[in-house]
Amino acid sequence: MAHAAGKILDAATVLRQMEAGEEPPQLGRRVIVYGGGNTAMDAARTAKRLGVDEAMIVYRRSRKEMPAHDFEATEAEEEGVMIHWLRTIKQIDETTFTVEKMEIDDTGRPQPTGEFEELEADTLILALGQDVDTSFMENLDGVEVARDGVVQVDPQMMTGRPGLFCGGDMVPSERTVTVAVGHGKKAARNIDAWLRGKTYDAPPKAEIAAFDLLNTWYYDDAPQTQQPALDLVRRQDGFEEVLQGLTEDNALFEARRCLSCGNCFECDTCYGICPDNAVTKLGPGKRFEFKYDYCKGCGICAEECPCGAIRMDAETI
Ligand SMILES: Cc1cc2nc3c(=O)[nH]c(=O)nc-3n(C[C@H](O)[C@H](O)[C@H](O)COP(=O)(O)OP(=O)(O)OC[C@H]3O[C@@H](n4cnc5c(N)ncnc54)[C@H](O)[C@@H]3O)c2cc1C
Ligand code: SF4
Ligand code: SF4
Repeated sequence: MAHAAGKILDAATVLRQMEAGEEPPQLGRRVIVYGGGNTAMDAARTAKRLGVDEAMIVYRRSRKEMPAHDFEATEAEEEGVMIHWLRTIKQIDETTFTVEKMEIDDTGRPQPTGEFEELEADTLILALGQDVDTSFMENLDGVEVARDGVVQVDPQMMTGRPGLFCGGDMVPSERTVTVAVGHGKKAARNIDAWLRGKTYDAPPKAEIAAFDLLNTWYYDDAPQTQQPALDLVRRQDGFEEVLQGLTEDNALFEARRCLSCGNCFECDTCYGICPDNAVTKLGPGKRFEFKYDYCKGCGICAEECPCGAIRMDAETI
């Protein structure tokens, strides 16, 4: 990318400055954010909140391939951010940006088309992906750091150095909060086992109870509640949280909509319906015992269980 540009800033620095309550950067009237991840979305939405007239995102792939969450792009567009999909910046001349249109080839890679257009902007904010700084781990025996800085781990989240575990953005994975939190939980279980000289064996996952195993008549219709969200005008005006957390009432209501697919929720249907008293209640939270000596294998319990938690297996003699 050749340039003789106005202002070029780095997205992470801009966002950090805002978070730290420092003097906001002078962005001018029009801003281009270059990138298609959550950082790019945050930077463009921040520019809007700082009062720029035009906040644009230039991204070389299409919406389908962008690493940002889809809802982030939707919210950015709702707030007036203009996203120029399938474009790369080829040249910058002061405030004039020449961008080339791209197209996605059969392998999913963006390819240049030789068609150009111009955009005007006072500031360019670069949000071209960030890598974790794992340089401090490079010299540790056994630790394998790939070229892009990610650390290799085994299925137990342990690096090649016994007792050193990693997770989140610094290992090969989708870089989101949910994945990082999941890695933390998984690593904690494995660390605990490792310290005891054991290995952690995850319990086998329950079989998936697909829709045809459910008796939906059992459940009430329950409308979805709306997660409290800030209205569009207030959103663009300041830095208040856009999607707020669920209230206690919302959370309890939403939890009641759960169909508990494949997991017994102690509705007592099998207990009440079994013609041979083969089902024994074990008490709250302890579910039921099926006494196979009494069970004649009629299958009524499995048929009537609302959530598909009972499986009928052929008897082996
Ligand atoms: C601008 C931006 C927007 C994002 N938006 C979203 C989003 O909308 N949704 C989403 O799911 N994800 C989003 N992400 C990604 C998400 O933030 C990360 O995937 C997640 O935070 C990774 O968690 P982690 O624990 O691996 O790392 P981090 O959350 O980065 O935590 C690492 C911690 O280690 C500390 N640390 C670093 N080096 C050292 C050291 N040498 N010694 C001691 N401590 C150290 C750091 O200070 C930090 O506190 C976004 C990321 C960015 C940058
Ligand atoms: S196994 Fe099914 S029918 Fe029996 S109590 Fe649990 S949810 Fe109800
Ligand atoms: S299969 Fe029939 S007999 Fe056996 S536990 Fe279920 S309802 Fe009772």
